[in-house]
Amino acid sequence: MVIFMNYSTPEKRKLYRQYYATCDAIHTQYSAENAARLERWLNGNRRNPPPRYTPPPPTPPYPKEILGMACGAKTRKGAPCKRTDLYLSGRCKFHGGLSTGPKTAEGKAIVALNGLQAKQHQTP
Ligand SMILES: [Zn+2]
Repeated sequence: MVIFMNYSTPEKRKLYRQYYATCDAIHTQYSAENAARLERWLNGNRRNPPPRYTPPPPTPPYPKEILGMACGAKTRKGAPCKRTDLYLSGRCKFHGGLSTGPKTAEGKAIVALNGLQAKQHQTP
C-alpha cells in the first residue's frame, strides 16, 4: 500500500498560518465579549442572573489542502520529513528553521565579543 503524504509547500504553510490566525481572531473576540459581559454583571445589579454561557462561534471549515499536512523539509537522508505535529510555521520541531541571529546593534555587539572573552566563572 502506498501512502501519499500531504507535504507542505510555501503556499500551504501560508494557508495554514492564515487559518489559525483567523481562528485566533474569532476566539480573542469571543473571550473579550465574555469578559465584558461578566464585568458588566459584576459592576451592576447582582440580583440579576449571572451571564449565561454562550457557546463559542463556529470557526471556518478546515481547508482540505492542508488536511494531514506533513513538515516536508529536506532531511539528512534527502527525503522529505513526514512529521505532522507542526508549529504555526508549518514545520515540525526539528525543522523550524535556523536562528536568524542578533538583529539589534546591541545584540550584535554582544555576539562580537564571544570569542574574545575568557569564560567568566560565576560563584552562586
Ligand atoms: Zn520536519
